[in-house]
Amino acid sequence: MSESTPIEYVKGIGPQRAERLKKELGIFTAVDLLEYYPFRYEDRSKFYKVSEINRDSEKVQLIGEVHNLKVTGSARQKRMTAVFRDDTSAISLVWFKGIDYFKKSIQPGVKYVLFGKPSVFKGTLNFVHPELEPLSEAKLKKGSQFKPVYNSGEYLSKLGLNSKGFEKAIRNALIEKHHEIKETLPDYFREKYSLIPRKLAIKNIHFPESFDMLQKARFRLKFEELFFIQLQILNSKHTKKEASQGFVFNKVGEHFNFFYKNKLPFELTGAQKRVVKEVRKDTASGKQMNRLLQGDVGSGKTMVALLCMLIALDNDFQCALIAPTEILATQHFETLSEQLEGTGIEIDLLTGSVKASKRKVLHPRLESGEIKILIGTHALLEDKVKFKNLGFVVIDEQHRFGVAQRSKMWRKNVHPPHVLVMSATPIPRTLAMTLYGDLDVSVIDELPPGRKPIETLHKYDKDRLSVQGFMKREIEKGRQIYVVYPLIEESEKMDYKDLMDGYASITRDFPPPQYRTSIVHGKMKPEDKDYEMQQFASGKTHIMVATTVIEVGVNVPNASVMIIESAERFGLSQLHQLRGRVGRGAEQSYCILITGFKLSADGRTRMETMVRTNDGFEIAEVDLNLRGPGDLMGTQQSGLLDLKIADLARDNKILQHARSAAQALIQADPQLSHPLNQTLKATFLRFQKQRPDWGKIS
Ligand code: ADP
Ligand code: MG
Repeated sequence: MSESTPIEYVKGIGPQRAERLKKELGIFTAVDLLEYYPFRYEDRSKFYKVSEINRDSEKVQLIGEVHNLKVTGSARQKRMTAVFRDDTSAISLVWFKGIDYFKKSIQPGVKYVLFGKPSVFKGTLNFVHPELEPLSEAKLKKGSQFKPVYNSGEYLSKLGLNSKGFEKAIRNALIEKHHEIKETLPDYFREKYSLIPRKLAIKNIHFPESFDMLQKARFRLKFEELFFIQLQILNSKHTKKEASQGFVFNKVGEHFNFFYKNKLPFELTGAQKRVVKEVRKDTASGKQMNRLLQGDVGSGKTMVALLCMLIALDNDFQCALIAPTEILATQHFETLSEQLEGTGIEIDLLTGSVKASKRKVLHPRLESGEIKILIGTHALLEDKVKFKNLGFVVIDEQHRFGVAQRSKMWRKNVHPPHVLVMSATPIPRTLAMTLYGDLDVSVIDELPPGRKPIETLHKYDKDRLSVQGFMKREIEKGRQIYVVYPLIEESEKMDYKDLMDGYASITRDFPPPQYRTSIVHGKMKPEDKDYEMQQFASGKTHIMVATTVIEVGVNVPNASVMIIESAERFGLSQLHQLRGRVGRGAEQSYCILITGFKLSADGRTRMETMVRTNDGFEIAEVDLNLRGPGDLMGTQQSGLLDLKIADLARDNKILQHARSAAQALIQADPQLSHPLNQTLKATFLRFQKQRPDWGKIS
């Protein structure tokens, strides 16, 4: 906001700090500084007794007196100790720096408020450099029970802008410049959604008068932040819907009906039927469909895609199905070829490893419209891949696809084809609404009947022998087993060593010819990979040792055990994906997570979550809480989620409110032309300039 004072003129900042603030935090004005919110508060409303302190205590606040000040040693060994005492017990205090200052200022017999986190030294508890403040002064400071804590950095701290420095600067700015904070929402709107004025909110977000006011301030600021994002998304959805004409699929004909009557291998689940109907409605509307289909692993998304493609064929359009890996594309090709046998529908496969000689035949057949369904990988996106009349695109396992790549498919016909994006990584609703605000979402929330829930166990390295015994018993029963090793790019060399060591030890413990083992990893030639996959899929090998290349989509119903090595190194959604490779047949399936004995708190939560639930949505929620939304969606998009105050993992309710508010507003006043909405409109225009277009992410 240009009307605000430049940051260098805010009291206590000056040119040097201003330079840093601009560079590191994008703070250019007094108002920018006031919008730099604390990331947490220290609760100063509770007081502890010394006797209540133990080695697990977090930061605590005590009231007592300071006695026995003693300075020992000299130079670098110099230190000062003291005893802090209340009516329950005593605890020692230590200083290594600023000794002269503290020695002068601490007075015996005066009551102090002590604040700090106890530490353990040679088996006893003490406080190192605690904050001390005379009780009389602490009491006088109004609203001091919530002390704001600000993020800072090394350079900023050096310039005096550590958390305390920010607190001081912001206090000054609030006193001198608070009139520069402008209201962004009209009165009627604030009343309707119970939002306190912006000035009051900003004051209380830094220095809350009470817990109640802190809550109100948070609500107001989070609501506002999410509201403008939603307004932008809905606004672009509105204009996009108006603008992008789509092909009309106005009939269901021979292809669909013949297949449905004669070829459908099973009864569709209710959820599958519903999604097909939703797509049918979209594709008949005359607008281009952009739909995200979410369904847990094994929920039967492929059949939905096939049925929708058949409708496209009935309307004389071609279809494309894009998968993220060669293995998966090939598998789709094989499944669909089998299912479409006897229908006369031409279907083909195009991946990076398709030879030039075959391409030479394929390209003209595609361009003439002979090939009806083309399945493939990224290779499909290339400009030289031309269709006669592409009308429907399915993108499987969307989370591996970049945005720019996806948009390439849009340009393969005069109008953009309809797009169905299928994802097995259930995105929590909050995130879906924010990221894919302009995508319609369908959910398959029902698994095909007769599936037995996968049993998940967490084992440690030391349990290996019993795991082997279990594997042998399962193989005797005729089952097959996956053993998966992590593969992280940064530690690729080590990982391959682990994989190869693991493979060696498995072939030792499960020797041929009684046991046969396959191996698949990313460094193998595609032919070799396919061969090994084929060996396993056809039941010729018992054990498949692999890296995460098998993560997505692969379907071997007879495989009933998934063993994940170094499971603590996988993220939750990846673990869930891997587990989804089993549990596809009628047999009871198992997932065994093997970890080292020492686990981080996060790691433990991940294992516990996997053992507790098979519900992909629940897992996604936990994942979001553990990792934060930026991480979940991949690094490119994290910047877009750079919210000032709202937290997508936790502010679901506020997001819903904000979204309905945005919806109501767009409905009532789509152009924001009503006189009462002018403040809001001005804010929105400013906001749009600063923010990337969220609607374009999808
Ligand atoms: P995903 O949603 O993970 O892509 P798939 O489409 O691969 O799942 O389906 C998983 C398995 O379930 C496949 O073997 C498929 O044939 C089978 N399947 C799909 N729908 C049904 C259904 N309605 N009844 C029985 N089996 C089904
Ligand atoms: Mg699939």
